[in-house]
Amino acid sequence: MNLVLLGPPGAGKGTQAKLLEDSRSLVKLSTGDMLRAAVAAGTELGRKAGDIMERGQLVPDDLVIGLIAERMDKDEGGSGEGYILDGFPRTIAQAEALDRLLKERGKKLDRVIVMEVDDDALVERIAGRFACAFCGEGYHDIYKLPKVKGVCDRCGSSGFVRRRDDNEEVVRARLQAYHAQTEPLIDYYTRQGKVRAVDGMADIATVSKEISQALAGA
Ligand code: AMP
Repeated sequence: MNLVLLGPPGAGKGTQAKLLEDSRSLVKLSTGDMLRAAVAAGTELGRKAGDIMERGQLVPDDLVIGLIAERMDKDEGGSGEGYILDGFPRTIAQAEALDRLLKERGKKLDRVIVMEVDDDALVERIAGRFACAFCGEGYHDIYKLPKVKGVCDRCGSSGFVRRRDDNEEVVRARLQAYHAQTEPLIDYYTRQGKVRAVDGMADIATVSKEISQALAGA
């Protein structure tokens, strides 16, 4: 099964993608994670993408499509039963490229989960988030602190990081990019009968249960 998690920044796509990866034999492909890794490694791609990301705008289609293609090629033979795409596609051109990449590999997209959240809640959500620097487990200043202060619940390490683009000004730009460039994908995939909407405002466990229900029969 191959699925796309679609929703605005802060909707919980990364959290749910990780849960799905842990509970099913699926491989998570997150262009945001790949781009941040490229920025941290100082590669040419990272240098091209870094400034754009800090402004909250979208990185050019050809760059992110190239990243996804490369990852799918490395995963030749498939280490799992399919892909969870988190943060990709974000434009119609990317969606068309995804259809093509899957088709070339004898696969298809089965479901698109749209995580519905309202904009005002997103700014608060995003401004409080941080993650374990080692395993990437996500936390939040209000909603999800580590059980033991300063120690990651998942891997026990004690370093945490905050994303540079998780501040109010950049979040507003990211939301604008979402509404203008990514939201049209909901229509694109609705026409293909692949969309299932879930209430992204519910707590993590409830959203996860709703997603499982939405995937049944896919
Ligand atoms: P994310 O972690 O998915 O919120 O992505 C963080 C930032 O990376 C976005 O604000 C964009 O600048 C860039 N980015 C991630 N995925 C894409 C994509 N599919 N297309 C264009 N830009 C992307």
